[in-house]
Amino acid sequence: MTTRRLRPPVAPDDLLDVDHLLDDEEKAIRDTVRDVVTDTVRPHVAGWYEAGELPARELALELGRVGVLGMHLEGYGSAGTSATAYGLACLELEAADSGVRSLVSVQGSLAMHALHAYGSEDHRREWLPRMATGEAIGCFGLTEPDHGSDPAGMRTTARRDGGDWVLDGTKMWITNGSVADVAVVWAQTDDGIRGFVVPAGTSGFTATDVRHKMSLRASVTSELVLEGLRLPASAELPGAQGLKGPLGCLNEARFGIVFGAVGAARDCLLTALDYAGSRVQFDRPISGFQLTQAKLADMTLEYGKALLLALHLGRAKDARGLAPAQVSLGKLNNVREALEIARTTRTILGANGITLDYPVMRHANNLESVLTYEGTSEMHALTIGQALTGVQAFR
Ligand SMILES: Cc1cc2nc3c(=O)[nH]c(=O)nc-3n(C[C@H](O)[C@H](O)[C@H](O)COP(=O)(O)OP(=O)(O)OC[C@H]3O[C@@H](n4cnc5c(N)ncnc54)[C@H](O)[C@@H]3O)c2cc1C
Repeated sequence: MTTRRLRPPVAPDDLLDVDHLLDDEEKAIRDTVRDVVTDTVRPHVAGWYEAGELPARELALELGRVGVLGMHLEGYGSAGTSATAYGLACLELEAADSGVRSLVSVQGSLAMHALHAYGSEDHRREWLPRMATGEAIGCFGLTEPDHGSDPAGMRTTARRDGGDWVLDGTKMWITNGSVADVAVVWAQTDDGIRGFVVPAGTSGFTATDVRHKMSLRASVTSELVLEGLRLPASAELPGAQGLKGPLGCLNEARFGIVFGAVGAARDCLLTALDYAGSRVQFDRPISGFQLTQAKLADMTLEYGKALLLALHLGRAKDARGLAPAQVSLGKLNNVREALEIARTTRTILGANGITLDYPVMRHANNLESVLTYEGTSEMHALTIGQALTGVQAFR
C-alpha cells in the first residue's frame, strides 16, 4: 500500500477561510505587522529568550515606525484604527512571541490608554505622541507583592503634602518597568484609588528586574519601589476614580490577548504540521498516523474557533463595545486553547519539542504567564459566573 500526502485545499492555518471575513485595510495592517515581525523579531527571538533579555528600546522604535503603538487610540500621533485591526496586529506579534505582544499591549492598552482616557490635556500632549513613536516607553503599576487578583487591597499610598503628592509602596511584576520613561501608578488616597503619572527619573523611584523567569523571558518584568516619591498635584490622572480606572485599562489589554493568544496557537499549529510532514518513524511521516492526525484535527478546530471568537468580539467591540464578561469569555477560551495547542504540538515534536530550535516550548511557557496576567483564568471564570447568575463569588 502506498501512502499519499494530500495537500489541504486551502491554507492549513485557515481551513475555515476566515481570511475572507477581513477587509482590505485589516489585511494590509496584518501584513505590515507580519512583515516587521518576520524581519525584526523572528530571527532573534529565540536568542533573546535564552538570554532572558529584550532590546525593548530598539524594538519600540521599530514598532512605532509602523504605527502599532497605541494604534487604536484617536489623535496625539495615533492612527485611530478599529479594535479589530489592533487585535490582528496583536495576533501577528504574539505569533512571534508573547513577550513582544506584551510590550505593545502595556504600551498601548495600559499606559497610553490610561493617559488618553483619564489624563489631563497636558498629560496627553506631553506623553502620547512620543509613546506612539516608541521614543518613550510606558509601564502600568497595579499589582503588588501581596495584591494580585484583588488589587482593591493595595498598600501603595499617595498622601497630600501641601500642594504635592507623596507616594510610598511597591509594585510587582511590572512589564516594561525598568525600561519605562513613564509609569502609570495606582495608589490608595484618602478619596480611594487614584492613578498617577510618574516620570521614571523622579527621585524615590527605582525599578529592578525580576530574574530567573521561566516564562516571558523576552520581556522586561520589574519590581517598582516608590519611596517618599514626590509629585506635583498635576501628576494625578483627573479622570480616574476608584478601581474602575485601572480595570478599564485592563479590559483593553485583555481584548488584545484574545487575539494575541490565537497567534501563538497558529505558530504552534504550523510548526506541528511542518514537523509531522517531514519526521519519519516506522518508515513513514508521522503525519500519516491516525493519532497524529486526530491531534492535528483537534488543534485546527480549536484554533479556528478561537480565531472566529476573537473576530466576533472585535466586530462587536467596534460596533457596540464589549461588556467585561464578554472579554472574559474570549480571554478564558483563547489562552486556555492556545496553551493546549502548544502542549499538543510539543508531543508531536517529541524530544525536539523541548528545545529552542522550535518555538513551541517558548510559546507554551509564555502562555503560562498569559493565563495568569490581565486576570487569571479563575477570575475570568468568576466574572462570567457573575454575569450568568448575578452572584459575585470573588469573596
Ligand atoms: C510576566 C508577568 C507580567 C505582568 N505584568 C504586569 C503589569 O505590567 N502590571 C501589573 O500591574 N501587573 C502585572 N502582572 C501581574 C498579574 O496581573 C498578576 O500576576 C495577576 O493579577 C495574578 O495575581 P497574583 O500573581 O498575585 O496571583 P493571586 O492573586 O495570588 O492568585 C493565585 C491563585 O489564586 C487564585 N485566586 C485568587 N483569588 C481567587 C478567588 N477569589 N477565587 C478563586 N481563585 C482565586 C488565582 O486565580 C490564582 O490561581 C504580570 C504578571 C506576570 C506573570
